[in-house]
Amino acid sequence: MTTTETDAKQAFAAKLKAFEGRQIGPPERGADPVNQPMIRHWIEAIGDQNPVYVDTDAAAASVHKEIVAPPVMLQAWVMRGFKPRPRTGGSAQDELMALLESEGFTSVVATNCEQEYARYLHLGDHLSTTTVIEAVSGEKATGLGVGHFVTTRVEYRTDDGELVGTMRFRILKFRPGTGRTAAKQDAGSQDDAGQEAKDRPLRPRPAITQDNAFFFEGAKQHRLLIQRCARCGTLRHPPRPMCASCHSYEWDTLEASGRGTVYSFVVNHYPQVPAFDYPLPVGLIQLDEGTRLVADLVGVEPSDITVGMAVEVEWEDHDPDLTLPAFRPAGR
Ligand code: ZN
Repeated sequence: MTTTETDAKQAFAAKLKAFEGRQIGPPERGADPVNQPMIRHWIEAIGDQNPVYVDTDAAAASVHKEIVAPPVMLQAWVMRGFKPRPRTGGSAQDELMALLESEGFTSVVATNCEQEYARYLHLGDHLSTTTVIEAVSGEKATGLGVGHFVTTRVEYRTDDGELVGTMRFRILKFRPGTGRTAAKQDAGSQDDAGQEAKDRPLRPRPAITQDNAFFFEGAKQHRLLIQRCARCGTLRHPPRPMCASCHSYEWDTLEASGRGTVYSFVVNHYPQVPAFDYPLPVGLIQLDEGTRLVADLVGVEPSDITVGMAVEVEWEDHDPDLTLPAFRPAGR
């Protein structure tokens, strides 16, 4: 690196540092106070059945004495909407993002989110947030690319100024094409393909437990085994100890035919993990036997994948310790 380049980098780093401590625009007040309908919809979506969130009598008999909101709903009370309401005034965040983008750090990925709750929220609490840029890191080389971490700290307060929670949120703004995957692809164009395959990191290991070991052992034998309740016959995947229908712990397995349809799918572009090829289509497969599982979609262009298309299993022996099912269009 030349002296001029070093000077330019230091000057840029100093400009980024100057954002630390700056508030992002004026405080923003939630559209609605803490309210029962939003709590009800949220707990139905999440499946939390604690009665203190919805049942007046149960809440009155509890330590809370009244209905409270689930603490992790904190962010919901000030969300800016599906079509975000325009901010009032300028935003230091927008300025910082524009500065990073002007230097080629155009991609973004969220990396951390930590919330702290000072107390439970009650119906009628009306929250506002103030957000401060807490830290901007120096240039870091990460798996995704070279970039800067930006940490913001959000304070949640009621109308009378009481601090009820905080959230620290960190993103990485990075230069696309500078991560380890890109470096490997460049090296691969010079070396022979075999060398590239050898250097490629292994797929992330599944967490094998007593409950799911049969699935991965079956996969090594190219058998698609699905857990089945031994009492009522309900299929379940991913594997888990108890039947959700009859609560029995007794189970055996069914060897599935490997045929099914695409119930839903996504095509992943970012973040890119070096063990995978991108774009990476991943399907939620509705098996003919009646349960679903998530698996890579192979042998098909991402643009040709449709919901409902018939697929069949194809076994992928990734390495001696890991075989996984993938699915390809049926009959091809
Ligand atoms: Zn059962």
